[in-house]
Amino acid sequence: MHERSVAIGGNSTREMFNPKDDFSRMLLSKEGPETCNSYNMLKLTRLLYQGSPSASFIDFYERVTYNHILSTQHPQKGGFVYFTSMRPQHYRNYSQLQQGFWCCVGSGLENHSKYGELIYTHNDDALFVNLFIPSSLTWKEQGLTITQTTQFPHQDYATLTITGKATRQFKLAIRQPNWLAGAMTVHINGKAYRNFTVKDGYLYINRQWQNKDVVRFSLPMKLAVEAMPDGSPWVAFKYGPVVLASAAKNLPGDIYFADSSRMGHIADGSLIPLDATEPIRFDTAALQKYIRKNDNELQFTMVNPASATSVTLQPFYTIHEQRYTIYWPLLAAGKSRIGEAEQQLMLTDRVSVDRISLGEQQPESDHGFTYSQSESGIWNNNNWRSTRDSISYSLNNKKGEGRSLVIRYIANKEGNAFAVYFNGQQISVPDIESSATLQVKTMVLTLDAALMKSLADQKVPVTIKAVAGKETPKLVEIRLSRE
Ligand SMILES: [Zn+2]
Repeated sequence: MHERSVAIGGNSTREMFNPKDDFSRMLLSKEGPETCNSYNMLKLTRLLYQGSPSASFIDFYERVTYNHILSTQHPQKGGFVYFTSMRPQHYRNYSQLQQGFWCCVGSGLENHSKYGELIYTHNDDALFVNLFIPSSLTWKEQGLTITQTTQFPHQDYATLTITGKATRQFKLAIRQPNWLAGAMTVHINGKAYRNFTVKDGYLYINRQWQNKDVVRFSLPMKLAVEAMPDGSPWVAFKYGPVVLASAAKNLPGDIYFADSSRMGHIADGSLIPLDATEPIRFDTAALQKYIRKNDNELQFTMVNPASATSVTLQPFYTIHEQRYTIYWPLLAAGKSRIGEAEQQLMLTDRVSVDRISLGEQQPESDHGFTYSQSESGIWNNNNWRSTRDSISYSLNNKKGEGRSLVIRYIANKEGNAFAVYFNGQQISVPDIESSATLQVKTMVLTLDAALMKSLADQKVPVTIKAVAGKETPKLVEIRLSRE
C-alpha cells in the first residue's frame, strides 16, 4: 500500500508488481493498475480496519475509492475499465454489453454497488463517520437515523442530522483525514463545539443526543504534490483526496470501447513519446503560485513558467473517452534511466506487429500459451520462461505485416540450443550465444514476406523446442516485427 501504490491507489502493470525502487515500467506501460487489484485491496483494507479501527485504513480506502474505483465505470454507457495506464497522454477503454466478460467486469459490477459499505461503522458505544458521502443510516439498535448531507469534494464541509424518538448517549466519531489543510471545526446546532477528544484519527463527540441535532464539520482541503514512490522525478497533483489530471488530445484510431477479442481490454493505440509531455518547471514547494483553483469548481489552471499554454486540471475520475496525464515529469526526468527505456520502447512499439512477454500470465494466456516441462521466473526485472520440452504461442500477424521473428533470451554459460517452429515449419536458428555472466541477447529470424502476406490477420503458431532434453536458456520475449 505505501510502497507500491501510485497516486490513484492502484498498483501493478500488466498484473505484476514493479520493483519498489523502479517504477519506470509503470510510467512506460500502456497497461497500468488493474481494477481487480484495487477491488481486492479495498476488501483487505476493510478487514484490517475491522480488526483495528484506525482512520489510516480509511485514508487509503478513500484514495482508492475516489481515484481508481470511481474512475473505472463509463458514466453513461456503464462499461468497465481493466487497466488504467499511468503513461502520460495514454488512455483506457471500456467493456461493452454482451462483449467480453473480463475479471474487471465481474468485480466492476460489485465495485459500484459498494460505495455505501464503509461510510459508517460502529462498535459498542461509538458511531464512526468514515467517509464524506451523502447518505442516510438507520441504526436500529439505537433507534436512530443519521443523515449526512454534503457535496464533498466539491464542498469542504458536511452536515449530520440525527433523528430518533428518545435522547441517547453515545460517541460520534468523525474521521480526521490525512490530507487536511488545517484543523477541522465542529458546530452543533449552530454553536462551535470544542469539547471533542482525538484518538486514532477520529474526533470523538460524547454527549446526550436529542432528536434533530445537527452536527456540521469542516474538511479544509489544499493542493498537494505527490512523487512517484520510487523517488524518480515524476509527480501527480491532488486536491484534498482527489487526484487531478489533464485531458489530452485523442488520436485518430483510438478505440475507447473494447470488442470481445482476447486483448480487447488493452488500450492499444499509439504511444505518445514521454518527452511530448511538458515537464514541470516550477518549484513544487510553491504550488499555489502556479496552480490556481477556478471559482466554484473542482477545476484548476496550471501555468508552467516559460510555457506558451496553460493546462486545465480536473479530478481524474471525471475524464472519460479521452487521453489523460496524471504523472508529470519534473525538469530533471529527461536525464533519468527512464530515457533509455523509453527510447527502446518507442522503437519496439513502432516496429512490433505483436509481442509476448514470456513468463507473464496475461500476455501468455492472451497468446494461446501451451507448454510441457516449463519453468518461469524473474531475473533482473525481466520475466522469463524456459523449457526442457516445448512451449507454444500464437502470434497475431496483423495486416500480414510480420517480416521477422525476434527472440530475446538470457544468455548463460550452458548456451544450450533450441529449435524454433513457425507456422508448423522448423526455421533455422543461429548458434545460441553463451555467456559467463547472465545477459539479455536478441536473435532476429527473417520470415518469408510472401508467406506472411498470405497469412494476413491470422494467428500464426510459434513453438520453441528444447534440443536433446536440455533446458533452453530463459526466454524473455517473442516478437513479430515489421522490419
Ligand atoms: Zn481484473
